[in-house]
Amino acid sequence: MEKRRISILGSTGSIGTQALEVIEKLQDKFEIIALAGGNNTELLTEQAKKFKPKYICIGNPDKKVNLDGIKTLYGTEGLEEICSNKENDIILVAVSGKIGLKPTLKAIENKIQIALANKETLVMAGDIVMKKAKENNVKILPVDSEHSAIHQCIKDITQVDKLIITASGGPFLHKTVEDMKKATVKEALAHPRWHMGKKITVDSATLMNKGLEIIEAHHLFNMPYEKIDVVVHPQSIVHSAIEYADGSVIAQLGLPSMHIPIQYAITYPNRIPGIKSKSFSFSEIARLDFEKPDFEKFPSVKLAYHAGQTGGSATVCLNAANEEAVMAFLDNKISLYDIYEITHKMMEKHTLIKSPSIDEIFEIDKEVRIKTRELIG
Ligand code: MG
Repeated sequence: MEKRRISILGSTGSIGTQALEVIEKLQDKFEIIALAGGNNTELLTEQAKKFKPKYICIGNPDKKVNLDGIKTLYGTEGLEEICSNKENDIILVAVSGKIGLKPTLKAIENKIQIALANKETLVMAGDIVMKKAKENNVKILPVDSEHSAIHQCIKDITQVDKLIITASGGPFLHKTVEDMKKATVKEALAHPRWHMGKKITVDSATLMNKGLEIIEAHHLFNMPYEKIDVVVHPQSIVHSAIEYADGSVIAQLGLPSMHIPIQYAITYPNRIPGIKSKSFSFSEIARLDFEKPDFEKFPSVKLAYHAGQTGGSATVCLNAANEEAVMAFLDNKISLYDIYEITHKMMEKHTLIKSPSIDEIFEIDKEVRIKTRELIG
């Protein structure tokens, strides 16, 4: 594989730091153009000293960092400047939240390949992003383990009959609804398989994360919602699967490590040892379990299907209301189960816009957040 020039948006987050661990093992294969690290300037400075990018980007302009030979950029403007820099072959979008959307569109317009770890980009504006990517002949390479798995399984999308997304089930898989209703923040954050940011960990506890992934899969693979299934698989070894028209099922397996899908996205289509530390052993794993998801206990998945099928601004509302409710849960203002109740109420109140523009999407996002906070009180 020839050397690639890469930028990482969100280098100090969970995916960003793991991406740098991958790149550290593949130093002859990557040159880092820019690292954008939000407000964790301490870690960003450490990363910049080690990886020597041309630019760093800090969220807050009041924080000053002086590093020899490295230009400092600030805020969303800085992110967009990075995404307009054609020195980049690929940009890993690993910021969390809606802040990822506009820079991603900028990179697509500049024909820079995207390794996408930011869910909101497709949940909020999947139609626009995928259309733009197609027009500009830009690949959106999924970093999320489930979508990476599907991407790795698909040879010919036209012959695929169904996508089967696996879900670990989170910490409440075998608990009752009553247990979930009294769940503390600490319990909700104790994910049995994956270490991730707080927001996504709570989404994994309610299974809303799976709901958002269904919407992402719909856009990435242009698959109707009725052809996207979810199956619970607690071991997180099968990362997802596809069923072909003839009934043959292809699944992607691997140890539960984000290093593998991150590396695949940024080295695609190459298969190189890189970060691999351990060989996969079926006999060590011994068993793989699967079960139907309980939609009574995890109604968020149904809500996400409904939002996806409704289309337009419905998924913008779903995403914004859910995120506000998750934040309120993390602040101990509401219970874990209220997250669904509140999101559901906001969805019912929502006035649908069929094909919202990017400006309208941000406007709706803002309005829904204000109204959700009002509802929470
Ligand atoms: Mg995932």
